[in-house]
This record gives sequence, structure tokens and C-alpha cells, in this order.
Amino acid sequence: TMAHSKALLVLENFIGGKFVTCSSYIDSYNPSTGDVYCRVPDSGKEEVEAAVKAAKDAFPIWSSKSPLERSRILNKLADLIEHDLEAFAQAESKDQGKTITFARTVDIPRAVYNFRFFASSILHHTTECTEMATMGCVHYTSRAPVGVAGLISPWNLPLYLLTWKIAPAIACGNTVVAKPSEMTSVTAWMMCKLLEKAGVPHGVVNVVFGTGAKTGEALVCHPDVPLISFTGSTLTAQRIMEKSAPHCKRLSLELGGKNPAIIFDDADLTQCIPMTLRSSFANQGEICLCTSRIFVQRGIYSEFLKRFVAEAKKWKVGNPSDPTVDVGALISEEHLEKVRSYVKKAQAEGARVLCGEGVDSLTLPAGNQKGYFMLPTVIAEVKDESCCMQEEIFGPVTCVVAFDTEEEVIKRANSVKYGLAATVWSSNVGRVHRVAQRLQAGLVWTNCWLVRDLNLPFGGMKASGIGREGAKDSYEFFTEVKTITIKH
Ligand code: NAD
Repeated sequence: TMAHSKALLVLENFIGGKFVTCSSYIDSYNPSTGDVYCRVPDSGKEEVEAAVKAAKDAFPIWSSKSPLERSRILNKLADLIEHDLEAFAQAESKDQGKTITFARTVDIPRAVYNFRFFASSILHHTTECTEMATMGCVHYTSRAPVGVAGLISPWNLPLYLLTWKIAPAIACGNTVVAKPSEMTSVTAWMMCKLLEKAGVPHGVVNVVFGTGAKTGEALVCHPDVPLISFTGSTLTAQRIMEKSAPHCKRLSLELGGKNPAIIFDDADLTQCIPMTLRSSFANQGEICLCTSRIFVQRGIYSEFLKRFVAEAKKWKVGNPSDPTVDVGALISEEHLEKVRSYVKKAQAEGARVLCGEGVDSLTLPAGNQKGYFMLPTVIAEVKDESCCMQEEIFGPVTCVVAFDTEEEVIKRANSVKYGLAATVWSSNVGRVHRVAQRLQAGLVWTNCWLVRDLNLPFGGMKASGIGREGAKDSYEFFTEVKTITIKH
């Protein structure tokens, strides 16, 4: 209705320091109510062209600023986002479906920290130098920003992951054209409103909103965008590799996972159980690092399962803005159906669903009846070959299976196409090191989960990605290196 459409939030692209309207728009839903509440620009080639031009024009001045000047601007932006933390958290929760608690304590603080972290780390890089005395030569390396970076991010941790790319890209002196997920664009738009006040010159950060197929692909195919940093699914990454191949673009690809948790019989279950619940169900299981295959050593299997399921049942699903709620809404109706379909397939294959979807009933507040909610679901006795054990589900579903030996569990943990993260639980230090060394994963957490030092490399092996992000890794990705030889 007219009255309804009037109340909609309408986003605009941010190009060359100005908000610009678009000729067409996409509806964006509030996942906790199922209502359309926002309209997102449906940008195409034209908008991307304008944004790339603005970024190109801004490059000479921005790239010639000193790291310290850029650092000060990044810090200012961090302060401004932090000042509005509550508004950003509310917006992220409403747009994505995640709980307000998660947005307040994880998403927005991390977005702030991303800017602070790269504001600091950009000041501390050194380049290499070697001496070749017999030739009378010294060699040194010099690094320079590349140009216009295309940044494409997913919907699960919207501002968190977008700023994880924007911050290093601009800290290094590049200018950017960013495209957030069409399903979660609001906080990126809110950030644009703060750029001028932070002192980010016009054209340094441009944001074009729209779908992957239209906006994203226009960015990937643009000849003046030499590097693309992408976080999203493996399928999309394949498409991006194909589309960027004719231009030989530099790509950083952070993709999906099918992360195992390996729990040995000497694990401290009082620590392991609550943390494995978090690693399975945090953010509705919509984190690339979430655990979705839990391997438990035979001796403690039934005890673990009993305690794990009892605790999983305590996770409260409901209105994301209720601070007592643990599980919010999934991103979309389509995604909810996809996640549910895995549970049905598991049942059809003879696996046992111990709690959650199809087993327990979910009662929702009156205003959330049409939201995309689902109970945390634990599946047992599922075969390793099952799609539930092979494919990324990306929802609040986790599979628990038993194992006997270390050798066996390493093999089974590695028997998927992905290789992003793994957790190992054991009080045997030797075993922890041994197993961590042999797991095919870019990140291995032992006796903990999601503890990150942003200095160190982040990224996946196998189908989980190409390249790493982190203080040094992002610096290397977002700069071009040159080796210079001086003969004296
Ligand atoms: P997605 O691949 O569907 O979309 C990611 C982004 O790419 C969106 O902005 C989308 O619009 C865009 N896109 C889609 N098609 C495109 C195309 N042809 N060309 C250019 N851009 C295109 O992923 P999603 O569903 O938004 O996110 C979930 C996925 O992201 C999961 O697989 C998850 O594991 C992964 N993820 C990985 C990490 C990591 O760091 N490894 C972090 C978070 C999420």
C-alpha cells in the first residue's frame, strides 16, 4: 500500500562523496517479521562505471598521503562508528535477523576495531633489503597501492566483513568500490554518512548497492579494477574467477567451510560443550567458521551427546531485539527452506534428529510469526558421505558422530572439499599439536573457538579460498611490490 511504501527506508549509492539515487530498487526484508522494510538500489553497469571513475580520480591524492595521515582518518572513522554503535547494532540486527546482543558485542565492535587495527598496523610495516657485497649491490623492496579495489561481501556479518576489506584497502592507499550483499546493505549505507566527517576524501570509498549478478559482476568485469577481494560462497567465487580471468585480476577469495570439531575423550567437557554449542549455533550458525561436524571419541560419545542436546534445547529462539534471545532469524525464507531441507534429507537417510527442526515445537512472539526462525538442530548417526556431512549448510544445524582413533578422525575430518577452520579438544598437548598439524584447514583452534589475532593470516585451504587476510597478508594483497637493485 502507499502508506506502507512511504515508511520504507530507501538507500542510495555513495559515489564520489555524494549520495545518488538509482533508477530501480530491490526490496529488502526484515527477516524477523518477513516484511519488506527497505529498498536497495539495483545498480548496474552505469552506476559501477561512475563509482570506478570516482575511485580512479581520487587515487592520485589518496595514494600520495602518508600512512600516518591515512591512519588518523581511519581512527576518526572508527571513533564515529563507535559513537553510533547502538544505532548500527540495531540496524544490523533488523536487517540481518541476528540478535541485538550479537550485533552489539560482535559485529559493530569488530567493525570499529577493523579500522583501528589497520590504522595502527599500516604504520609498522617494513620492507626487505638484502646486500650482495661481491656484486656491489643492495636490493630492496618497495610497496605501493595498486589502484581501485573491488570489494564484495556477504550477508552474514555485513559491516564486520565489509570493513575488514575497506580498512586495509584504504590504509594501504588504494581507493575502493564496495558492494555489500543486497540482503544486508543498511549498515554500509550508514557508514557512508560518516566518511566525510572522518576526513575520507570524496571518491576514496564508493559503495554501490545491488545484486551479485548485476552489480557484483559489473565490478568484477570492470577493466579499471585490478583487484577483487571477495568473501562469500565457493560457487560465486568460481564465477568471479572466470569473469576476471580475461583481465588477470588479483583475487582474494574467502569462501565457505564445513568445519569439524574433534573431541577426544580427555577433553574438558565443561569447557568444550558450551563452546561447541556456540561454535555450532552462534549467529544462527551463519558464520563461515561455524562447526557443523562434531567428531566425538567413542568413550565419551553418549555422555557428550546427552549433555550437548540438553544444552542445545536451552537456546532461546525469538525476536532478535529481545536481549535474552540466543538465536535470531535466518537471512531469508529461501535460505531457511534450504537449511530445513538438509534436516529432511538426513531423516530420509536414517539419521536421528535429536532436537530442533521437526522434533521440537517452536513458539514465536505474535509479531514474529512470519519470520524465518528455526530451532538449533542436532543430528546424530549421519554417514560421512551424506550431504549433511559434506555440504555447507550455513544454519543452526550440527551433526554429531563417533570416532575411535586419532588416525581415523584426521582422515574423516579432512574428507570434505572445504578447509576453512577446525577445532580440537584434548588435554594432551602432544596430541593437540600433532592433530592441528595434519588437519587441512587454514585455522585450527584447540580448546577454544573464534579467538582471533588480526595480525595473523586468516583464510581457507581447498574450496575454502585462495589467499589470506590479516595485518601482513592484507598489506601484501592490497599493495604491489617491486624489487629495486642499486649498484654502488
Ligand atoms: P554469495 O556468494 O551468494 O554472495 C556474496 C557476495 O557476492 C554478495 O555481495 C553477492 O551479491 C555477491 N555476488 C553473488 N554473485 C556474484 C557474481 N556473479 N559476481 C560478483 N558478485 C556476486 O554468498 P552469501 O550467501 O552472501 O554468503 C554466505 C557464504 O559466504 C557462505 O558460503 C559462507 O561460508 C561464506 N563466508 C565466508 C567467509 C570467510 O571469511 N571465509 C566469511 C563469511 C561468509
